[in-house]
Amino acid sequence: MLHDESRALVVDPGDPQPVIKALQRLGVKLEAILVTHHHPDHTGGVKALRESTGAAVFGPARETIPEPLTRLQDHDLVMALGLSFKVIDIPGHTAGHIAYFCESNEGSPLLFCGDTLFSGGCGRLFEGTPAQMLASLDRLAALPEATRVCCTHEYTLSNLKFALAVDPHNEALIRYMESAQALRDNGQPTLPSSLALELQINPFLRSRLPALIRAAQSFDEKAHDEVSHFAALRQWKNQF
Ligand SMILES: [Zn+2]
Repeated sequence: MLHDESRALVVDPGDPQPVIKALQRLGVKLEAILVTHHHPDHTGGVKALRESTGAAVFGPARETIPEPLTRLQDHDLVMALGLSFKVIDIPGHTAGHIAYFCESNEGSPLLFCGDTLFSGGCGRLFEGTPAQMLASLDRLAALPEATRVCCTHEYTLSNLKFALAVDPHNEALIRYMESAQALRDNGQPTLPSSLALELQINPFLRSRLPALIRAAQSFDEKAHDEVSHFAALRQWKNQF
């Protein structure tokens, strides 16, 4: 949830109840619901929240989302809370997955990337190909390094265990594992992350680097190009 002390927006409400409680606690009105993709743990609260608050719903052009909603595709702009969010098509996890990027909010850019980019990892390929996912991650990686990465699951520690297995000599990654573990031990989230950090530690943004290519080839000796190196890492993570 993002709010300005009078209005709020939420991204991918899987469950309406925590949102309703937060709106009441903060005394803010829900203005918009932004949906990144069709999975039920991202859309389960949409209908109840729209009906109880009258919030406008935005979602991807080509996925089944509870109607009515404004359907969005690449380069569309959404206004909410007086902020402008640019839509970026990022297929891979699902076929029509989108992200929302705000150039500036409280001094730094903001990215809502759903289940595509996680801290230390990326989403599973349920509907897209490795080539699509790699291209989608490339688009996100090209955003400003100061971008705060608001992904939709706290998978960081389990992602970092895999990241350390494939990139064990990465000092930034070793340090991040320690700080993320300390946050979780204190019941704190590791999120949002930042693009600058992800570029240093996330194996799925680093799959073209020699250490990650060697790791990919140790899993799949037939991997021979950037897409198959990426695919090998994603496949390895599925079994990890
Ligand atoms: Zn999903």
